[in-house]
This record gives sequence, structure tokens and C-alpha cells, in this order.
Amino acid sequence: MSSQPVPPDAGLRPRVGQTVHYVSHGTPLRSDGSQAYTSRCRAAVITSVHKRAVDPMTLDETAMWVVDLCVLNPTGQFFNQHVVQMERAHDGGTWHVRNFCDA
Ligand SMILES: [Zn+2]
Repeated sequence: MSSQPVPPDAGLRPRVGQTVHYVSHGTPLRSDGSQAYTSRCRAAVITSVHKRAVDPMTLDETAMWVVDLCVLNPTGQFFNQHVVQMERAHDGGTWHVRNFCDA
């Protein structure tokens, strides 16, 4: 997990039509541990807002949100449902606000 601070607006309710970053998974690892394409931020538009994410350890509601996204890759787009927000670490398959991301 990185030591980046959580942006002050991270817990605000996301809005349909808001542009955010989706973190791609990257291509599968090769036998030598390298990847043809690594995980990186992609532009995405929120298409639906669900609810706050639940911490799997405590089952408590968190400040992060679950949304549906239209992800805009340089060579195509795809739709991804029930994507969890993650502001500190940027794991593949999560989304975050753009404000404090330098991608
Ligand atoms: Zn980003």
C-alpha cells in the first residue's frame, strides 16, 4: 500500500457522468515475470452509482463507493460493473478520483 494521503473529496458521493480513473489489470504475467502491458490509469465515466463499499474484514461501511464505469482505453472501451473505489493503493480493477493522481 502506498503512503499517498487520501484526497479530501474521496468520500464524497460520486455522480453519474463524472470522469474518474479506472486502474487496468495489465496483461497476464509471462514466465519471466514481465508483462506486455502493465497496470495503469485509464479514463472512465461513471454510468451508475451504487452504495458505499463494505470493509470485508469488519463488514462496516467505508468512505469508498461502488460504481459502474465506461472505461475509455486508447484503442477501445468497455463497461465494468460494481467497481470499488480505492484511493490509497491503486490496485488493478479499482477506480479513484483524478484530483490527486498524476497519470
Ligand atoms: Zn489515476
